[in-house]
Amino acid sequence: MKIQWLGTAASEGWPAVYCNCEACRKAAELGGRNIRMRAGAIIDDILLIDLNPDLYAQRLRFGLDLARIRDVIVTHEHGDHFTPLYVEFREPVYCGGPMPRLPLYGPSDVTMPLRKYGEEGLVELHTVEAGDEFDTSEHHVTTLQAVHSAPLGKFYLIEKGGKSILYMHDTGLGCDAALAMLRERVKKPIDLVSMDCTYGPNPLPEGYSGHMGFAENVRLKEMFLKDGLADGHTRFVSNHFSHNGHMLYDEMCRFMEPHGIEIAYDGMVAEV
Ligand SMILES: [Zn+2]
Ligand SMILES: [Zn+2]
Ligand SMILES: [Zn+2]
Repeated sequence: MKIQWLGTAASEGWPAVYCNCEACRKAAELGGRNIRMRAGAIIDDILLIDLNPDLYAQRLRFGLDLARIRDVIVTHEHGDHFTPLYVEFREPVYCGGPMPRLPLYGPSDVTMPLRKYGEEGLVELHTVEAGDEFDTSEHHVTTLQAVHSAPLGKFYLIEKGGKSILYMHDTGLGCDAALAMLRERVKKPIDLVSMDCTYGPNPLPEGYSGHMGFAENVRLKEMFLKDGLADGHTRFVSNHFSHNGHMLYDEMCRFMEPHGIEIAYDGMVAEV
């Protein structure tokens, strides 16, 4: 299985839309892996995760052929992960003729606003609940309950040919029900875990669990290793960074290297 991270920022992007803080200025100046678009990923070039607002820029930057996409899974309704306009662009007038109906899976606050596109035959809508398992054209997907300010938010375990990728965005570490479900259903260690890391090196606010930072990512890795959800071969990748963390790419890599955790960047590809 292959995953490509298309965007790796929190909702405001990095440099952030209206920000000139030191972290945003430095990122703009250095460029490269410090420039982060809004979060999304693609599995094996055909399974798109989230309809992030920068999908068009990512198509240009990474030379993506989005016409090849066979299925879409959406994590939650927040605007940095869900832009309904990308469904509308499947109308024949925008794409040179009719396209196949696109299967799209997501919580009800994602599928409901798309109903008219469903009636037009642009998408085949599937509302998913925590615990649902379903087959896309080439992958088996398990739906897990996130702990996030979008209460219906989900994250997904994606499997194919005995390999597995856990795409864990956006959620805090307190997603106990999801972790219990993983312990029960996962029969062999997960191959790659992409973890929410919005807070970076900053501590979470007291009592808050809607996102994670480096400390929570390290704790999650320890928990997974202890529970047998992961082993020495599992790749752990931090992703979905806010400029408020202030650490640029190289510094993040140095910070997390001792913990054996990688830092995602836009366009990064991993094969498992
Ligand atoms: Zn987000
Ligand atoms: Zn900034
Ligand atoms: Zn969110």
